[in-house]
Amino acid sequence: MSQDTVRLIPSDEGSWRLDAYLRRGGYEAARKAVTSMAPAGIIAEVRKAGLRGRGGAGFPAGLKWSFVPQGVSGPKYLCVNADEGEPGTFKDRAILVRDPHRLLEGMVIAAFAVGIHTAIVYVRGEYERIAGRLREAMAEAEGAGFLGPDIFGSGFGLEVVIHFGAGAYICGEETALLESVEGRRGTPRLKPPFPAVAGLFRAPTVINNVETLANVPSIIGRGADWFTAQGLPKDCGTRLFSVSGAVRRPGLYELPTGIPLRTLIEDHAGGPPEGVSVKAVIPGGLSAPVLRADELEAHLDFESMALVCSMAGSAGVIVIGDRTPMLEVLGVMSRFYAHESCGQCTPCRIGTSWIHRTVTRIAAGQGRRGDLDLILSLADGIKGRTLCPMGDAAALPIQALVTKFRDELEQAVER
Ligand code: SF4
Repeated sequence: MSQDTVRLIPSDEGSWRLDAYLRRGGYEAARKAVTSMAPAGIIAEVRKAGLRGRGGAGFPAGLKWSFVPQGVSGPKYLCVNADEGEPGTFKDRAILVRDPHRLLEGMVIAAFAVGIHTAIVYVRGEYERIAGRLREAMAEAEGAGFLGPDIFGSGFGLEVVIHFGAGAYICGEETALLESVEGRRGTPRLKPPFPAVAGLFRAPTVINNVETLANVPSIIGRGADWFTAQGLPKDCGTRLFSVSGAVRRPGLYELPTGIPLRTLIEDHAGGPPEGVSVKAVIPGGLSAPVLRADELEAHLDFESMALVCSMAGSAGVIVIGDRTPMLEVLGVMSRFYAHESCGQCTPCRIGTSWIHRTVTRIAAGQGRRGDLDLILSLADGIKGRTLCPMGDAAALPIQALVTKFRDELEQAVER
């Protein structure tokens, strides 16, 4: 990574403190945005940078901001998605722990650009202790006039509230998140209307992931051209890759988008432990269809992953070694989706639990000929027939795993 690349996860002593952040040039971009830029100019710069959402879907952030109607009276909201429920993903946690002021600065810039005065950070329930860092950072920023009723003496104000989730995966889906913040059970809403028009309390709402907003200060501070010089033309900047599983050095790696999967696994994460070889890789969080070992030349960006029928998703890279039975992986996957289905749609509610029961039966040595076709057909019945993306998120990886590792799974069925 070049010297000029901003590290989203700093390593200096006390990196989460305001004084450390100021030494790294912190809040200069927010000052520039709030005191000398027009809101439309900020949105234009973020659009020019082509910053894509880091939560999983990859939707362009600036475009999302531009959908919020301008000139309407009444409140608008910024919701920060810090739910981080995608298995294999632990990047937002690192930003909250090591660099909470970068997130707050990104929030100030986004809120000013869209004309928002209230922001809610929706934090995964398990991150309650971690959120203490964010709380401390908020107090420091308010004390310094970088947050609160009169930011940089400009008259622009932003109030930030932390709201905890209660452990439901589906609350990472943006409309389920809104329901949860409103105090209801977190179930996805039918769209349209989209949150930019009718979101939290039916007011216009921007929902961005933590890592997405953490990229904004650098874009405003250094300019869109600096940002687009990293990564790929249609998917710029760096990403925080969470690497876990059968590697010698699991952890978080900030690298330019488009890096080959093999380079990430072998050069950065140290490759598999001695005596183990890579059998499969889930490249973008559990919802991303699995790749075989012969597909490791694929590049980690949204377009390249689509070419191999997978997803860059949340950049959670799970490496599966040759000693791990794929039936075990299928068991974990199917149990997760059956447990996390919110139950609103019949195909997802019934299909995911039926798949899980079938996999459990195979694992118990009671597999029947036709079970794998049954799983594929159940997944097909979910795909494209549900209210929210979790239907596809459950069906696609299960279909990919059964299709690509059919021979191994057949042996488990017939044993
Ligand atoms: Fe709920 Fe599944 Fe339907 Fe999404 S697809 S709304 S998780 S039942």
